[in-house]
Amino acid sequence: MGHAAMRSANMSLLLRVLRSRGGSSRAALAQETGLSKAAVTTLVGELAERGLVQEGRVERRGTVGRPGTEVRLDGRRVAGVGVELNVDYLAVCLRDLAGEVRFTSSIPMPSQAGPGPDGARSHPPALVIDRAARQVQEALDVAAAESLWIAGITVAPPGPIDYAASTVRFASTLGWEAVPLGEELARRLGPDHPELALENDAKLSALAEAPRLAQRGIEDLVYLTGDNGVGAGIIAEGRLIRGWSGFSGEVGHIGVEPGGEPCRCGRRGCWETLVGLDRVLAVLDPQDPALSALVPMQERLARLRTLLEEGDPRLLQRFSALAEDLVRGAGVLMDVLNPRALVLGGYFGYFADVLVGPVQAALDARLLADGGRVEVSGSSHGLFAAAVGGAAVAVERVLENPMLAPTVPR
Ligand SMILES: [Zn+2]
Repeated sequence: MGHAAMRSANMSLLLRVLRSRGGSSRAALAQETGLSKAAVTTLVGELAERGLVQEGRVERRGTVGRPGTEVRLDGRRVAGVGVELNVDYLAVCLRDLAGEVRFTSSIPMPSQAGPGPDGARSHPPALVIDRAARQVQEALDVAAAESLWIAGITVAPPGPIDYAASTVRFASTLGWEAVPLGEELARRLGPDHPELALENDAKLSALAEAPRLAQRGIEDLVYLTGDNGVGAGIIAEGRLIRGWSGFSGEVGHIGVEPGGEPCRCGRRGCWETLVGLDRVLAVLDPQDPALSALVPMQERLARLRTLLEEGDPRLLQRFSALAEDLVRGAGVLMDVLNPRALVLGGYFGYFADVLVGPVQAALDARLLADGGRVEVSGSSHGLFAAAVGGAAVAVERVLENPMLAPTVPR
């Protein structure tokens, strides 16, 4: 390892210790990392020049002598951007190194009316990517106004990704196939845009949720995200599972009902034909505002909640069937993956208060032995978890290599 690489690795080590431990004295940092005190002093100085740590005096109660100096992570200068492309909305999140969300926005997914009186709306890639670029630019402008340096942008489409080519292999809910999303978005953002990467929406949501569970020692989880489609983000033994070609977690097309309803993928009886949001919406009157793709997603879900709380019999019946239908697919995933946690996200997460109990009970009822129990919970990052996860993944680049961050002018 060269000198610069060694220095960067040691700076990264210090940042990670500070992130997990909070403030620390230089002596404690030296002890924890095995670096000499002199090395810690030099490296902390360099991290401070890049605005990644700050040093402050702390009064130690009950001790005699001069106050100590504490080194702390400075999360306020570096941030990442996450963008989620969902069939129902476009969401962007600007989140800093300290984990604070500095800006967020969402709009209904841009779409075109199809031909004919009841033509389905379509989502041409050029239309969607134009609008996504404007939304990212808005977040970048906020960052610039707040003197935040952007470590990277992560874009989350709802389908498997060809990572090498930065393309979306397919996204059945959007009707996309082999869309060069990375290149097209980069071109619209211009030559000076921050580093841009793609990651699947369910995988990012799982990464966003992982730290909450890791605090309790849980390293195996499945995150289920529900909209019209269903995707899973799988973290096994602490690592995100992508599969050899990025197709891991495309669970919406697991066959659960032979000869069932036709699916947009061309097969029949796929899991998402039973648990997709469109199946819930289908019980409403065609004119119900919850069905309109032009209404923001939160308002559509709030409308569903109101109807449910008013005791709408069609929705009561659908939600009671939904818990059972969720378990038909989730049970298979539990048997294959043996996770300790199952997190419900997307619209499943929005209705966590209604779904977690019955799903937990039904999964418990089919247990082979107590040791295989999974704990069901709702997503803690809400509807836009993939955008939050995207921002968090983007900012990780700086923890990996702190020398990417520019020095802060004094
Ligand atoms: Zn299918």
